[in-house]
Amino acid sequence: MTRRRWMMLMLAGLALAAVVLPAVAQAGRHPDRPSRVLIIMLDQARPDTIERYGMKNVQALQKKGTSFPNALVGHMAAETVISHNVITSGQFPKHMGWSNEVHRDVDGVLGTPGDFYVTSSMSCNQYKALIEHGGYKKLPDYLDDRFGETSKFVTIAQKRSAVCPAGPTSSGAGDGTATDPEDIILQIRGSSATTCDGLSGWRSPEDANPPAPDYFDLATPCNRWWTWQGSPAYGTGSILPARIYPLEGNRFVPGRDPAHLGGDVWSADAAIRVIQNDPGWRGMLVSLGGIDKMGHMWGPEDEETGPSGSDQEMRHMPFIAKTADEQVGKMVDALKTRGVLDETLVVITADHAAQTGREFNGRFDTFPPGVPDMNGCDPATGSTGLRSDCNWYYGRDADEVYLDPSPAIAGLRDALGGNLRFSYQDGHIGTWLSDQSRASREEAAKALLDLPGVIASYRLNDAEDNYRLAGVNRMELRELLWFLRHGNELVDTMAAPYGPDAVALLKTDVTYGVMGDHGGHNRIVQNIPMVFSGPGVGSKDSNREIRLVDVLPTILETMGIDYDKRDLDGRAVRLGR
Ligand SMILES: [Zn+2]
Repeated sequence: MTRRRWMMLMLAGLALAAVVLPAVAQAGRHPDRPSRVLIIMLDQARPDTIERYGMKNVQALQKKGTSFPNALVGHMAAETVISHNVITSGQFPKHMGWSNEVHRDVDGVLGTPGDFYVTSSMSCNQYKALIEHGGYKKLPDYLDDRFGETSKFVTIAQKRSAVCPAGPTSSGAGDGTATDPEDIILQIRGSSATTCDGLSGWRSPEDANPPAPDYFDLATPCNRWWTWQGSPAYGTGSILPARIYPLEGNRFVPGRDPAHLGGDVWSADAAIRVIQNDPGWRGMLVSLGGIDKMGHMWGPEDEETGPSGSDQEMRHMPFIAKTADEQVGKMVDALKTRGVLDETLVVITADHAAQTGREFNGRFDTFPPGVPDMNGCDPATGSTGLRSDCNWYYGRDADEVYLDPSPAIAGLRDALGGNLRFSYQDGHIGTWLSDQSRASREEAAKALLDLPGVIASYRLNDAEDNYRLAGVNRMELRELLWFLRHGNELVDTMAAPYGPDAVALLKTDVTYGVMGDHGGHNRIVQNIPMVFSGPGVGSKDSNREIRLVDVLPTILETMGIDYDKRDLDGRAVRLGR
């Protein structure tokens, strides 16, 4: 062949490629690239939770996909209400609009500037307003970019503090009221108790606007999606340490009513209902809250169980972890049956892990006999609330009062002479001050060093975008090494004008709220399971310390969706091939 004919053939080939390749690309389906993503959050699961309780379906996905045994939460506060937005936004809490359980509404997004809010009890519209004010895109927006405005994003959970941060998308209206009408936001616990089959204590689910699709039939009273959520339940109102945070009927456990199974079964069934009825879904986040509830009540290493079918079995971790695992298997089977498993990226992770209160600095005394009053704890009015809430929070906002703290926090309040406006304490301590001067912040950080279990304390810097180490206490070598590697970087992720003025880090296995607690920098709180499985994802594990903030860009890269790296705090991690 002459050189000239070679050239002609090359040119012809290039011309043909120019015509054919865009057509192939436009056809959309890349056989090696997922076109859907299902994120399953095992709330409060640790890597050892999966081994300890033999979660076989999760283990099968770990084996099939790319698993990250050293995955980290990667931010503080390491809590449900923070992490569920980090994972769908790729933003650190300092850029999200809220960064802790307590929020100082500096910009007046929710009302009067400077007012306080307990974020876990905010409404979906309040989260939406903060997200819109933050002005960042979320996973549902990127899926709309790629697959069209009619693609659906679905969030399902047993907690509003999971479903609302994970789900809402910005409509650009700026009023926090409009959501993409295609999306679904559904959680098990509507705001008011009701009666069903002549029994009280029932709840209908809450579908944050827009309303859930007709195939959920929520207008029919007492249908499958209604569950009994009376409190306390399954004996947890009278046993320590569980009774300070007892079960609410079948909100976090399945119960025994086959027509109204609750807990993680409810969430998985709702997800499967969507998979079966709604081919238009592109993204789904299902948050399973059972492991979290058991971990809070008993500690994350709870191994107690009871006779099959007993209350004792129902209220402990082995049964609930097994239940969660079965739901993972059910959802994967539903994808397979519907013929979409080979186009779905499945991500399994946790919003935070937990440590056990071997040194517990909360109080165990609990509400007087009768149904607990959820409105707070106020010795002045005699109002009593769940002891867990009175341990976790100190302070008051427009509708909640927490003024009956543990002795340790009462000591902090007294040491600060009236300057302690709000505090939150679980596996870390965050304090918000009335006087926010540098001297006040330094004084608070210093006072925190005197509290039990504290290993280090920080104050917010003058620019309110970083923390400055104020002091350290003695710590064991292993603790010191982890603190040196990760302490500063984790604390800094929540530095914002709305974040705490002073922060204390705690020793491993010290808690202030309940027996099993989250929130802090400790390795045992930060190390979470993380697995990606799906088309084009290999089975080689990675030792990288992937963080929750990295999940969004990793999903986008894996699905071939464009994004601007400068918009995100997270970085894409290459999955095994
Ligand atoms: Zn959580």
